[in-house]
Amino acid sequence: MPYDGLARVGRRDFAGEDMTSPQTALVTGASRGIGRGIALELARAGGRVAINYAGNAKAAAEALALVKEAGGDGFVVQGDIAVAADRERLVAETVAKFGRIDLLVNNAGVAPTVRADLLDAGEESFDRLYAINLKGPFFLTQLVAKRMLAQAPDAEGCRGRIVNITSISVYTASINRGDYCMVKAGLAMMTKLFADRLANDGINVYEIRPGVIATDMTGGVKEKYDKLIIQDERGITPIRRWGKPEDVGRAVRAIAEGRFPFSTGAVFDVDGGFHLHRL
Ligand code: NAP
Repeated sequence: MPYDGLARVGRRDFAGEDMTSPQTALVTGASRGIGRGIALELARAGGRVAINYAGNAKAAAEALALVKEAGGDGFVVQGDIAVAADRERLVAETVAKFGRIDLLVNNAGVAPTVRADLLDAGEESFDRLYAINLKGPFFLTQLVAKRMLAQAPDAEGCRGRIVNITSISVYTASINRGDYCMVKAGLAMMTKLFADRLANDGINVYEIRPGVIATDMTGGVKEKYDKLIIQDERGITPIRRWGKPEDVGRAVRAIAEGRFPFSTGAVFDVDGGFHLHRL
């Protein structure tokens, strides 16, 4: 059956019969910010989304209501991605509700609680960022990839797709949050590793590198970035506005829709052109 969009994709079920059904996604950290924007875009295409959150149940419930309003469906699932038992539960609950996982989005992430100069940065912050932003996504991807490998492929041979949300910090040195930069650089390498490992199994893996996006994470540095992006004569981004969660959501949706079947390990810069070297 030819590919016909995200909402209804032809594929075979475990018994080998053709069937169609809405695509299913597990999006970590989907209660707020970029993750919510991703969940909403998937919902606009009719997708079903497992909305993971860590502690903010109210925000997660709001996100689910918006997903339903947008034409999608889903459920809310609490779980700290840094904790092994939580990761297992996340996957088990998603499979129990949806039957399969077509898309994993490793979006959940945190910034350092306190920005510290590289010479003073402490181990506690390093360990926290490492656990949530890199170790958690690595072992969650391992679990989900094994699940995807057991799924029947669709008509194009796709068993599932994985998207990692990294950052311009992958290649931009910020000496007051080196821990964040280092773990995000690790996540970029993780994308390449899984892309290589899973390419022959019908699972493509992608990296989306957001620039400065208006969310709670950047709320505390709003004035700084208003100046850098908008007020300065030549802003740090050629496209002189803040990014929106929806900007990232639209990129994820395009991937979920199967628009890049011959690309894996690919990087999408969703950053207003920040990555350009300019003179
Ligand atoms: P945000 O507004 O602070 O939202 C963070 C989300 O992650 C929330 O849904 C939060 O859940 C969840 N979360 C935090 N720790 C978690 C954990 N241990 N387990 C599960 N979920 C957890 O952040 P954001 O700006 O949307 O950032 C999302 C991702 O994009 C992060 O990976 C971030 O590094 C990356 N990014 C952001 C920007 C930017 O400018 N904002 C730029 C580049 C990359 P609760 O609601 O329950 O707390």
